[in-house]
Amino acid sequence: MVSRRPNRILGGAHDAFWAWCAAGELRLQRCAGCGQWAWPAVESCEACGSAALAWERLSGRGRIASWCSFARDYYAGQFPIPWDVILVDLDDGPLFLSNPHGFAWPDVAIGQGASLVFIPCEDDAGRFQLPVFAPAEPGPSGRLGPGHGLRA
Ligand SMILES: [Zn+2]
Repeated sequence: MVSRRPNRILGGAHDAFWAWCAAGELRLQRCAGCGQWAWPAVESCEACGSAALAWERLSGRGRIASWCSFARDYYAGQFPIPWDVILVDLDDGPLFLSNPHGFAWPDVAIGQGASLVFIPCEDDAGRFQLPVFAPAEPGPSGRLGPGHGLRA
């Protein structure tokens, strides 16, 4: 099933990111000069200004650092409400904003392991593979209830 999504930001380095996703790889830019990760995609390093950015492949493993569940329809019916968003602290990279796949906010726990999966999506520019995260393991004992994340 192809999921309809709001239009992506495209052009420049953004196109390279989506091309790697289409190949089934999560790659983010890393500065060859200072080692800083860059995400979202940039044309030059925001830490040192270098344009020497390499697309490094990530393992796709991480832990949930935060989450939010949107109850308001900010996207004119393009998402089912509530709409869950998670912030994943990648094991080998930066924080990455994504969606939970196969679980929803009542089951989200801070520190819970998450593993990358790609799901087929579509916007006005066509089909693409969206990086989202499935549970990597059962949640730790620090399970969260409402009020520990954000309900917007
Ligand atoms: Zn740099």
